Amino acid sequence: MDIKTFEAWFVTGSQHLYGEEVLQKVAGHAREMVSWMDGSGRLPVRIVFKPVVTTPEAITAVCQEANLSPTCIGLVTWMHTFSPAKMWIAGLNLLRKPQLHLHTQFNRDLPWSEIDMDFMNLNQSAHGDREYGFINSRMRLKRKVVVGFWQDEDVLEQMAAWMRAASAWQDAQGARVARFGDNMREVAVTEGDKVEAQIRLGYSVNGYGVGDLVKYVSDVPEKAVDRLVEAYDEEYLVADSLRPGGAQRGALREAARIELGMRAFLEEGHFKAFTTTFEDLHGLSQLPGLAVQRLMADGFGFGAEGDWKTAALVRAMKVMSAGLAGGTSFMEDYTYDWDPECPKALGAHMLEVCPSTASQKPSLEIHPLSIGGKADPVRLVFSVPSGPAINVTLVDMGSRFRMIVNEVDVVQPEKPLARLPVASAVWVPRPNLKTAAKCWILGGGAHHTGFSQALTREHLLDFAEMAGLECLVIGSDTRPDDFAQALRWNDLYYYLSKGL
Ligand code: MN
Repeated sequence: MDIKTFEAWFVTGSQHLYGEEVLQKVAGHAREMVSWMDGSGRLPVRIVFKPVVTTPEAITAVCQEANLSPTCIGLVTWMHTFSPAKMWIAGLNLLRKPQLHLHTQFNRDLPWSEIDMDFMNLNQSAHGDREYGFINSRMRLKRKVVVGFWQDEDVLEQMAAWMRAASAWQDAQGARVARFGDNMREVAVTEGDKVEAQIRLGYSVNGYGVGDLVKYVSDVPEKAVDRLVEAYDEEYLVADSLRPGGAQRGALREAARIELGMRAFLEEGHFKAFTTTFEDLHGLSQLPGLAVQRLMADGFGFGAEGDWKTAALVRAMKVMSAGLAGGTSFMEDYTYDWDPECPKALGAHMLEVCPSTASQKPSLEIHPLSIGGKADPVRLVFSVPSGPAINVTLVDMGSRFRMIVNEVDVVQPEKPLARLPVASAVWVPRPNLKTAAKCWILGGGAHHTGFSQALTREHLLDFAEMAGLECLVIGSDTRPDDFAQALRWNDLYYYLSKGL
């Protein structure tokens, strides 16, 4: 997973009134800012200087150029001087890429004793950016507004979060999600409108017969299986029975064959995310556990039981978190500890938790699976380190997609989970389990989530803004009655806003 090839374009607005000398200064300042920010090491994608725009034609041209560029993830806009905003209407009407409006000023400090009218005419973003903000608001345009001196730590952090979200948005446009089999029968929350998702969110979701996958699995050469099981031997703490000569070594070879077949299928079809379902495994000897875990670790999105919305969400979160410390995984709220002092949730899944979240070398194990009626599946078992994390869900409310983000704190189990045969994480939701679960359930949040120790609410809020998603955050300051009220208002807002 690498987002370094993406670019955010820095577009400075001005006008002709000031004359060539001032415009050259404007360009020089913008260049200096871009070069400093690009070299700061604080931004996850390249920030690229674009010539200062002073006419409606130039503004429209840069917006169109951005739309067509596969590497441009969005525009960072700034009005160093005054740029009469009617000039921006045509371009902004066409712009299809996310926008960050950076409200900053070239000079940090006001030169109190030397300030004259020349300085005032050059450094007027304080009002230039307000004119520009108006036209964005008047046109009801989605964007992130970041305010502060351009070298400030918090300004760079907010820009970086937006760049990560914009990278995920760019990645989703035209992305392909493969479903092996359909949905888990009778399950509601994993269903949804795939056509609407493609229109709104950019990715397509299509189903494939498990037989198509089985063909890839059967075609895997023995030599490739040999090499992969050797890699497993090196990378993990392998259970005795799975080691060379062990009684269940054959099951490990089968897991390797499934991984190689799945990988080949997904790579050949240019898929970025996928789903499986234990109810449809015809021709596969075991439910893919290890394969799914390792593919997720390589950046594929995944959702179990046909959950394509979570698969695409996990992919987006993988892109957003590229290069950051902390793992990102498919997850499920599984079971609770109602400790009166501090209630906790234990998250896990049947098998499929991403080893990017592991706090130690994973152990490679084989255990029976109580559902599905297949051979015992191989899986990686590990725990997740303590620290802040988020759980994110995306549900289809019929009239719109809703995202819910819950901030949580991962803690360690009170005792070793000696008999638990799957990877797991224990967390304390913010503000507490009772409030968080109440709000989550009132909002219709799913049992499946994207879990991340690399991302914060800001990444997801930025992504939701770009995607036009409703986004509700459950955090330290959440109160259930306010949350319930927000749900009612949002129903009304999203109904009415279609007419705005
Ligand atoms: Mn599940």
